[in-house]
This record gives sequence, structure tokens and C-alpha cells, in this order.
Amino acid sequence: MATVTTATLQDWISGFDAAIVDRKDWLTELDSAIGDADHGANMARGMSAVVDKLSAGAPATIDELLKGVGMTLVSSVGGASGPLYGTFFLRVGMTAGAVAELDGPALAAALRAGLDGIVARGKPEAGDKTMYDAMAPAVDALDAALADGADLAAAVTAAADAAAAGRDATLPLVARKGRASYLGERSAGHLDPGAASTAILFETLAQAVQGAA
Ligand code: ADP
Ligand code: MG
Repeated sequence: MATVTTATLQDWISGFDAAIVDRKDWLTELDSAIGDADHGANMARGMSAVVDKLSAGAPATIDELLKGVGMTLVSSVGGASGPLYGTFFLRVGMTAGAVAELDGPALAAALRAGLDGIVARGKPEAGDKTMYDAMAPAVDALDAALADGADLAAAVTAAADAAAAGRDATLPLVARKGRASYLGERSAGHLDPGAASTAILFETLAQAVQGAA
């Protein structure tokens, strides 16, 4: 399989929603250690609004699907994560364009534009202990795997593995962005909640692509 279709990406979105519901309490626990204990609830509320909106009718193109996801997240999530994930999906959709499928390089370019959107919005840098620390390695790993000649399923699996490693690497970091930064040194020794949800985002992308193979 050399492309992802609108239907595959719709499976990704519903798989992400299901996984967020499943791990909502864990995400909230992570945010209770270094934030305000709402990351699980924020993500679950946003994704539930997304799934409700999608149940009204399946979009035909990837930009329509993902721009809808982004706008719904921006408008339904109050926390920092809503505008950040919302911007991510809006940029991925805009870059993908009005198409019904993407090949590996086009998917990688769209995801990189999403990452750039998060950077534009939140100004995270590597090592700030944010979702960026899971997402940037994932997007880099996707590019590297495709450049090495990996097929799409293997490349998104490499991205998911890199996101999980990036999440784990946030454990010792001192937060420099977002609410956790108010804790200073006391933020060390805990995983970043947004990096944890981003690892779920790439895990469910890999599952959707593998499911479509
Ligand atoms: P809030 O912090 O408003 O309660 P959430 O708890 O839903 O929002 O999300 C917190 C997560 O958002 C953090 O764990 C971090 O990954 C991410 N985050 C916060 N601020 C930024 C930022 N400026 N850039 C990138 N990610 C950020
Ligand atoms: Mg929070």
C-alpha cells in the first residue's frame, strides 16, 4: 500500500478518539503531577466533539476532514492543547489539499506542516518538555524511513516508535513551556502529558495505516 486515503485518515481520527477515551485517566494523572489535571478531559472532550461532527457525514477530501477536526478542537477545548492540536490538524489538512489520497512523501510533508503550526503557535523548542518533544522526532523518523526506502506502513511505525521514545525522554526534563514550567525543577521526574497524547496520535496513525494495508 503506497497511499493513505481519506477513509484511512478517518479511521485514524476515530482510533485516536477511542485511545484517548481509554487512556483519559492516565493522561489526567500525568497532568495532575505537573499541571492542572485536565489533559485527559480536554482531549476526550475535543475528540468526542470531532467524532460527533464526523458522524453527520464523511468528508470526501483530506483537507475537508482534517480542517474540520482542527476547527472543532480549537472551538471545543479550553486548555493549551486545544489550539495546539487544532492548529496541527488545520495545517496538515491545508497542506494535504483537496485530495482523496496522499503518498508517503505527501503525508510526511503534511505532518511536518502540522508540526510547524505547533511551533508557530506555542514556540516550543526541543527539550522544553512539551508535545513537540514527541512530535518532532516522529516527523523526523517518518522522513528518514521514507528516504531509506521504507514502505508507508513501516515508515509510520517508525514514526510511532520515535514519538513513544520522545515521550519517555520528557521524564527527566524541566518544563520550559506551558503550565508545567511554573513548577521549575519540580517538573522533572514526570512524563509530559501532551507528549503522551502525541505518542497516542502517532500510534493510532500507524494502526490506521496498517489496518488499511
Ligand atoms: P493546559 O496546560 O492549558 O491545562 P492541557 O493540560 O490540555 O492544557 O495540555 C497541556 C500540554 O500542552 C502540555 O503537557 C504540553 O505538552 C502542551 N503545551 C503547553 N504549552 C505548550 C507550548 N507553548 N508549546 C507546545 N506545547 C505546549
Ligand atoms: Mg492541563
